[in-house]
Amino acid sequence: MPMSDLPLTGHCLCGDVRFEITQPLIGATYCHCTRCQRRTGTAAAANGTLAQDSLRVVEGEELVETFWPPDGAAKLFCRACGSALFSRTRTDPPRWGVRLGAIDGDPGIRPRFRQHVDSAAAWEPIPDDGLPRYAGQAPPEAFVSDAPH
Ligand SMILES: [Zn+2]
Ligand SMILES: [Zn+2]
Repeated sequence: MPMSDLPLTGHCLCGDVRFEITQPLIGATYCHCTRCQRRTGTAAAANGTLAQDSLRVVEGEELVETFWPPDGAAKLFCRACGSALFSRTRTDPPRWGVRLGAIDGDPGIRPRFRQHVDSAAAWEPIPDDGLPRYAGQAPPEAFVSDAPH
């Protein structure tokens, strides 16, 4: 796997929100759910799973808006430019996610599976990349699996 220096850094499109990730990401996935399609305007979203307490917003915290959909995790985004940044579950403690595209450079991890492929976009074939596929939500253990990938 690629090694990345810690902290990882990232920012939104306008640059007003900047964050650091102080521990390696513990998982990453492609999500083909319709919520991710809507929020990104793309066929699938690449999401990383954060280790507990490893996220620090270092600039522009006041611009980070949280959308709580009726189902699924909360979506956090930059109010100024609309960039998708983070997610958080409703669990206690919450599990935090980061949008891989918001990270600067190599996040040091690669997506390990594809979930919600039953709702994959009609207009883009699911890549034949050998990653495990889940029809719906992947089980919690899949998000933090140390299995080879
Ligand atoms: Zn922004
Ligand atoms: Zn999704």
